[in-house]
Amino acid sequence: MLEIRNLHKAFGSLEVLKGIDVNLEKGKVLAIIGPSGSGKTTLLRCINLLEMPDQGTMKLSDRELNFQPGRKIASREVTELRKRTGMVFQSYNLFPHKNVMDNIMEGPVVVQKKDKAQAFKTAQGLLEKVGLGDRGHYYPHQLSGGQQQRVGIARAMAMEPDVLLFDEPTSALDPELVGEVLRVIKQLALEGRTMVIVTHEMKFAADVADHVILMDGGHIIEQGPPDQVINHPQSARAQQFMNRIS
Ligand code: ADP
Repeated sequence: MLEIRNLHKAFGSLEVLKGIDVNLEKGKVLAIIGPSGSGKTTLLRCINLLEMPDQGTMKLSDRELNFQPGRKIASREVTELRKRTGMVFQSYNLFPHKNVMDNIMEGPVVVQKKDKAQAFKTAQGLLEKVGLGDRGHYYPHQLSGGQQQRVGIARAMAMEPDVLLFDEPTSALDPELVGEVLRVIKQLALEGRTMVIVTHEMKFAADVADHVILMDGGHIIEQGPPDQVINHPQSARAQQFMNRIS
């Protein structure tokens, strides 16, 4: 589903990704963990081209892109690749002046030109899936952070992406609201959605991920099944990180 080879990204002279390789099969969940500033969010944003990689190749479903310094990717290619991803942001990023239903329908109706009645039906189904079937007419400010993030997840799914991308989906939430969001994500994992999740929630990563990548300083320093990477890391650097956060 997703194949990344030798991905590089710099911001000016700051090299943030220094040759990243990722393989993710359809229906699997990849968790990306690591210290702050290690490049996790940048990698996630490169997958849907919110950040443009400098070098490397990326294959997502049926699209393949080859990045080279000085070579611009055609905007049609960017659009095609983005269509295959759905992003859930740390800070929800809902439109504040639109109600929940319109937030979810915006992409399908405005971008994908879907029939409004059909988009409404799909959105209602998604709201029920995230436990907010009776909140369609609410505005974001009338909802808790956990509820807003569940709307964010429904909105990402409304575009029927091949892969869902989560950027620290619970880190802006009060601790008591984290569980309700993680439960929704876990349910999606059980349904076989392909997902990439940047998270600080180690227990959650261990619970839902099929594969974990531990990043440090722009490199993948360890990867494998969650139990191996989280509970039995091999390298000294990985052990140090795990000890510090546990
Ligand atoms: P993480 O998600 O692991 O905390 P990030 O990918 O957010 O790490 O950031 C990695 C490094 O890249 C940090 O040093 C950060 O300051 C820098 N960085 C991220 N985005 C930008 C940007 N748009 N411009 C300049 N520097 C950036």
